[in-house]
Amino acid sequence: MASSNNFFDIIVVGAGPGGSFAAKISAESGYKTLLLDKELIGEKGRYKACGGAIAWELVEEIDYPEDKIARVIESLELHHVDGENYSKKGKGAVIWRSTFDKFLTDMAIDSGVKLKEQEALIDIKKNGDTYDIITKKGKYSAKYIIASDGVTSPTLKLLKWPYFRSEDLILTITKEMKTTKTYIDEVLGSDSVHLFFGIKDLIPVGYAWLFPKTETITVGWGNQINLVKNSREEFKKFENLSYVKNALKNSNQTIFKPHLIPVGLRPKLYEDNVFAVGDSGGIVDPISGKGIPYAMISGQFAIEAIKTGEKRDKMDKLGTFYQKSLDRKFLKILKAKREARDRIFQSDDNLKKFLSLWEKYRSSQIIMQKLL
Ligand SMILES: Cc1cc2nc3c(=O)[nH]c(=O)nc-3n(C[C@H](O)[C@H](O)[C@H](O)COP(=O)(O)OP(=O)(O)OC[C@H]3O[C@@H](n4cnc5c(N)ncnc54)[C@H](O)[C@@H]3O)c2cc1C
Repeated sequence: MASSNNFFDIIVVGAGPGGSFAAKISAESGYKTLLLDKELIGEKGRYKACGGAIAWELVEEIDYPEDKIARVIESLELHHVDGENYSKKGKGAVIWRSTFDKFLTDMAIDSGVKLKEQEALIDIKKNGDTYDIITKKGKYSAKYIIASDGVTSPTLKLLKWPYFRSEDLILTITKEMKTTKTYIDEVLGSDSVHLFFGIKDLIPVGYAWLFPKTETITVGWGNQINLVKNSREEFKKFENLSYVKNALKNSNQTIFKPHLIPVGLRPKLYEDNVFAVGDSGGIVDPISGKGIPYAMISGQFAIEAIKTGEKRDKMDKLGTFYQKSLDRKFLKILKAKREARDRIFQSDDNLKKFLSLWEKYRSSQIIMQKLL
């Protein structure tokens, strides 16, 4: 039995954007909340492979300080390897995930959350009405569990939840290339991020990118995992494009990291007081791979489902409340995008048509209004 100090209303496993935001809302709602992460959360803490692009609305919503932004963006440049280029205007920011995630975790702590970092969950067991979570350092108990521990979610694996289909996983490789701000401004522009497409000659289902930060270019590549033959060689093909070669010629590699992006939902998002939030549930845009805002909102909705269930005394309906609020906000759109994605990546013609529409419309408009 966990001591009363180790007994919580809600345990949130994983302090990424989904977990930290869920924990913040949980503590603000009066729940005794534990936030657990296997890594050290901090600007000098764990590195997370990520483009780090977020919409300006999110910067404003959470009051993200401008001095923590690595670059303000005004356009998304879409390059097809056949030579067509498209430019999508819109304000955004590129952030370092260690800085951004720490900011959200600090918000959670300020709201009263207890943080335990460098403590990986190694086991989870149902014990009557509560779950016991075991780490190397201790045992903690709670009635509700938020599984926000990323795409490979050890929590859901231990609970034997079904995993993603292989066609719903993108294998990515990220390299951080250190250079100078002046050179980035010259080769990539001072306020643009760049995406590269090409089914036949670059990536069958996916894309590659150059995301400039202050003095670093984040170089990324991602392909549907069951279509990858040799990821390093395929990544090299991208680096050998003349535009990319030129952009990277004055830089030094500081990081190399593979990571998965889920682009389809897990077969279930709730069971028996456990909620899958963010990447652990596959709550990601299947076309762009954007996941930060969806992780945060799903974290919020999981806590709101608990509150509603308790208030209305409908504890058997928590999963329905969660699913319904996700559906209303964006899940229906994400599901439609998952289907559309197969059509977009069917041929270079379809892809180019999508890119030309994306210049002018939001991807959700293209899909929901059937513009493609
Ligand atoms: C290469 C790449 C580029 C991307 N670019 C963008 C982008 O530009 N914009 C965007 O919006 N999204 C992007 N994404 C997606 C985005 O990174 C994710 O959707 C987002 O991080 C999901 O947040 P999360 O909180 O669900 O999970 P995560 O951020 O993955 O957090 C999971 C947390 O769980 C912790 N954890 C794992 N196991 C345990 C354990 N056993 N015990 C305790 N803690 C544990 C981890 O340490 C981690 O902190 C990108 C993803 C990749 C891979």
